[in-house]
Amino acid sequence: MTPLSVYLPFNMDCLRGEFTPAKRGGGPPSGRGRWLVVQDQKLLVAPDGEGFRLPQGREPGAPPEGLESIGAHAWLGTWHGEPCWVAAQPKDAPVPEGLAAETLVPMQGTRLPDELLTIGGMAMQLLYWESTSGHCPRCGAPTARLEGEWGKRCGVCRYEHYPHLHPAVIVLVRDGDRVLLARKAIWAPGRYALAFVTASTASGITEADGSPLVGVFLPHAPNPATGFLLFYPPEALIPTSLRVDQALKMVVSAGVA
Ligand SMILES: [Zn+2]
Repeated sequence: MTPLSVYLPFNMDCLRGEFTPAKRGGGPPSGRGRWLVVQDQKLLVAPDGEGFRLPQGREPGAPPEGLESIGAHAWLGTWHGEPCWVAAQPKDAPVPEGLAAETLVPMQGTRLPDELLTIGGMAMQLLYWESTSGHCPRCGAPTARLEGEWGKRCGVCRYEHYPHLHPAVIVLVRDGDRVLLARKAIWAPGRYALAFVTASTASGITEADGSPLVGVFLPHAPNPATGFLLFYPPEALIPTSLRVDQALKMVVSAGVA
């Protein structure tokens, strides 16, 4: 039931201030509410014309039709004036009639609009927190939710813990239709990797001053089917006397052969 990966809110701005998180105190307002039911890495939604909508329960507090046996659920907040409930559905459970399971992973060609990706991402985070915070990290005893908080307190040693925050910033520097790439200046000196030159002059990619860059493929060991495509100034690369087959053998054997 625990999502393997958790995707950060896609874009809070796209909720246009219509979402109020259930951060502190109080219970949800009355009403039927909308349900964010996560199955594996998918959100169960009801097709609605060209788009999708979140399913509703038939009566206040009740899960949507076909999901009556769903397990524990939590109040995520209020969206467009309606309470939103979050619950997980087992991976192999059938999708109820009238609903569709749409991926929450943008890279997998999701058809969900940004606002459902955003609120679905929050639902996955909540489920992840609930599935990993049930026991005290210090003594292993069961924890209980702190009043009005997402945090939990250990019933035995009273240790309190809260969801982790991982602030991150990604900046794309653009110059017209070009983007700037960077390498890590903190990479340690005296450390080398086997890389294969795949483009002796990378077309269209240069240093900011126009100096040429060489494209290299840096394979993962021992499986070179994936790796990194990196660009370096020619003088940063050190030629070896290895043939390509010798270098590949070294990669797949993790240095043994
Ligand atoms: Zn404890």
